[in-house]
Amino acid sequence: MTRDWLVCASCAGPVSEGRCSVCRASRERMRQENGWRGVTPTTVWILLALLAAVAAVLFLQQRTA
Ligand SMILES: [Zn+2]
Repeated sequence: MTRDWLVCASCAGPVSEGRCSVCRASRERMRQENGWRGVTPTTVWILLALLAAVAAVLFLQQRTA
């Protein structure tokens, strides 16, 4: 993705090729960040489900009251 165009400051090669240890460290860090981003939608869906549950409870309480 976005890391494809990144040029390493140490070896002046594309970071995605992992030519030196700096490249590989950057690549590893970005992979972890991508993994973190991969988790986020799940968290968002859980929060949305909780919000929907709370809204449903409030709605039912109003109807029965
Ligand atoms: Zn490098």
